[in-house]
Amino acid sequence: MTRTNADSCPGVLRLHQAADGPLARIRLPGGRLEPGQLQVLAEAAAELGDGNIELTSRGNVQLRQVRDAAALSERLAGAGLLPSDTHERVRNIVASPLSGRIGGLADAHALVPALDAGLRAAPRLAELPGRVLFTLDDGRGDISGLGGDIGVHATDTAEFALVLAGGDSGIRVSAADAVQVMLAAAHAFLDLAAGQWRLREVADGVRRVIDILGLAPGPERLEFGASHDIPIGWLDQDNGLVSLGAAVRLGSLPARIAEFIAAVERPIFITPWRSLVITDLDEWPAEQVVRVLAPMGLIFDANSPWLQVSACAGRPGCAKALTDVRADATAAVESGRVLPPTEPSDTSGAADLGATIEVHSADDVTVAGRQHWSGCERRCGRPRGPVTDIVATENGYRIG
Ligand code: SF4
Repeated sequence: MTRTNADSCPGVLRLHQAADGPLARIRLPGGRLEPGQLQVLAEAAAELGDGNIELTSRGNVQLRQVRDAAALSERLAGAGLLPSDTHERVRNIVASPLSGRIGGLADAHALVPALDAGLRAAPRLAELPGRVLFTLDDGRGDISGLGGDIGVHATDTAEFALVLAGGDSGIRVSAADAVQVMLAAAHAFLDLAAGQWRLREVADGVRRVIDILGLAPGPERLEFGASHDIPIGWLDQDNGLVSLGAAVRLGSLPARIAEFIAAVERPIFITPWRSLVITDLDEWPAEQVVRVLAPMGLIFDANSPWLQVSACAGRPGCAKALTDVRADATAAVESGRVLPPTEPSDTSGAADLGATIEVHSADDVTVAGRQHWSGCERRCGRPRGPVTDIVATENGYRIG
């Protein structure tokens, strides 16, 4: 398929006109937020938006129903969240959230500032489609399977595999060269793109990028699978401090909770699984964070049914939506119709992975394990890997 139009990814300076009002997406390279930045986002969500910060599957955030775009961009620029007017939408960089603190072969986050700066320093790279995704995996395999366009995957402490179109290119680069090679690959993609938004859409794109780079692939190829290993709960860091992994209901973080997280005054990472990690805590403060924020709705329990459920915007946010899928998904969780992954589905309307059934009412949807609720067939935001689709139809829902 050849694209005939430019991508329409929203940013801060180019809002998306959603059915419920203007939507702004704020790029967070590596998912990182300083506490003061989260505070600014929380205030912006409360005073200029709908009161929530939405976490995206690329570790970015977005605000809905933005009432004053100029005031929003001014606040974000003042907090360092809009460092470039020209390149804001191309700063799509995800990195292993726990990298540099817990496990991993190398520190993927150490590459993020240089990659971000390199993108912003190259005027031509502002032309990258907003869909292009850079992935930095520290070797644990949580990021390379996300289907990015250009990335690196640590093979040991000082060597990375170059990842192109979500696969191992066979090229190995040193840590010192990793950022420059990714930037060169981004230029090569632009040479070849001819209007396409993703590297995988370019005919023979990976081979042609490798030719332009002039690098020789070796014989070894790593295999990358989709990971859903969300960091949740108490996580001991390698340096003796503690990280806390937390999920939020359907990836929507209320501004009030965000303000409490900001008050902890520690770096925060937004993950590609629409969760967050609060880092570098001593044990006693970490215990207090859980004690205060769990009752407010932050999820620190790895067995919570909320971890199994994702949903698109649905009504009223999307004009294509046939129903309010987020309300229906919430009702399913709260009424116990989201079953654990291993529990057989033996109630009316239940479905396991592999089955396909139609139900006339959302109340009849009972599904075990990971599930994604969509307001129409486009299934926006569907996670990668094994997931049961719950898709709104004219007559109810189709499951499977
Ligand atoms: S899946 Fe359909 S209803 Fe949901 S956000 Fe996408 S286009 Fe809208």
